[in-house]
Amino acid sequence: EDLNVDIVIVGSGGAGLSAAIEAKEAGKSVVILEQMPIIGGNTNRATGGLNAAETTIQEENGIKDSKQTFYEDTLKGGHDINDPELLRTLVDHAPDAIYWLNDMGAGISRVSLSGGATNPRIHTPADGSAIGPVVVNVLSQKLKELEVDILLNSKAVKLIEQDGAVVGVEAIDKNENPFKVNAKAVILATGGFGANSEMVVQYRPELEGFSTTNHAGATGSGIVMAQEVGADLMQIEQIQIHPTTDPESGYMFTEGLRGDGAILVNKEGKRFTNELLTRDVVSQNILKQTDKMAYLITNQEMVDENASLAKYIKEGYATKGDDLSLLASELGIDAAALEATLKTYTQYVKDGKDTEFERAHLTQSLEAGPYYAIPVTPGIHHTMGGVKIDTKTHVLKPDGHAIAGLYAAGEITGGVHGGNRIGGNAVADIIVFGRIAGQTAAAELK
Ligand code: ADP
Repeated sequence: EDLNVDIVIVGSGGAGLSAAIEAKEAGKSVVILEQMPIIGGNTNRATGGLNAAETTIQEENGIKDSKQTFYEDTLKGGHDINDPELLRTLVDHAPDAIYWLNDMGAGISRVSLSGGATNPRIHTPADGSAIGPVVVNVLSQKLKELEVDILLNSKAVKLIEQDGAVVGVEAIDKNENPFKVNAKAVILATGGFGANSEMVVQYRPELEGFSTTNHAGATGSGIVMAQEVGADLMQIEQIQIHPTTDPESGYMFTEGLRGDGAILVNKEGKRFTNELLTRDVVSQNILKQTDKMAYLITNQEMVDENASLAKYIKEGYATKGDDLSLLASELGIDAAALEATLKTYTQYVKDGKDTEFERAHLTQSLEAGPYYAIPVTPGIHHTMGGVKIDTKTHVLKPDGHAIAGLYAAGEITGGVHGGNRIGGNAVADIIVFGRIAGQTAAAELK
């Protein structure tokens, strides 16, 4: 049966859910279509946190940071090709995104350091647990209160156009029965294409055969639908690999582990990189090692302080050794080399200076066992490129004009992250631009 609403939102990740709340609170009728049997998309898998600068939470924790530094770090991390205006919008709105989530009960109160950031600015729940499920939970609770319907197993397949404007979507339900949602505006919040290996290889042939950290629904269908109505794409070939994923399943280990003190060693038992460099550089450095893999080394002290790490260990991703030589023999690597590496590293932490790799923020001495080693390899993580939008989330054509009635937010879009996304910026992106999409689409309804 066909539906009639003011605004139809495609995708129930962080961007779609945020857009829906704003649109509904602006008094519009809204429905969300989600192709999968569950909500949340890749947002469910966001393990890190949310970057923002000049927040009250940083202030309470005595952290000095500035929006300008956040902007510059992101631009540098993104290889200087980020869209400056989209990036400025992200930076300006990020603190509000956190307060907005906290008003709904997210409990984001801890700030840590993460790769590519000059200052601690990745905001996470107090116990260091993953941000994604928290975000999906609070947003979906809010939508329940607001009585917004989320239609599961409902896949948008085509945008409906009339007189040059987008006026709804054609969709199919669980049994592949077609239906239409007629609307005055469509917000595409369908995420990226990191799970679509054909599309990945189309734009980046050298990524053939890589595992992926993405949920199965990250197929890029929204990008294709937008292209069909004339949308321009931006930096579509910019695909990020995440340095630390499980070699077998592609399961991703949060970057925060390295920020909080974990080091990387290779099969020869040696460090080979500053662990806090950006994802692309750390990934490349791992790919240069034997078997294109490395071990994240942590100890019991870190496990006791970090809920994410404790979870990885409980789920069986780590090998444990009561001391380093036992760990080395479990891993089948050279014990003397591993011991020497840790001894040197502990001294760097005590001296406050890593003379080999110049890692800053030497917080954990890793002096005492038991020790844990998590094997890691880079996997396909984030598709930075996508549909071209302006700062109000209008979808743009190659001539720079907006497509009437069409908005997009989140990983489906390109430009915010440039050539490499900094950890903690995806969640900031989806909340900031999801909200703007909902607000703009509501304000522009005829
Ligand atoms: P973001 O982080 O940008 O919010 P997510 O990956 O978290 O992106 O969420 C995107 C959601 O959109 C996923 O749950 C995905 O299954 C859904 N989705 C993608 N394409 C379609 C489609 N054609 N129809 C309905 N839902 C879709």
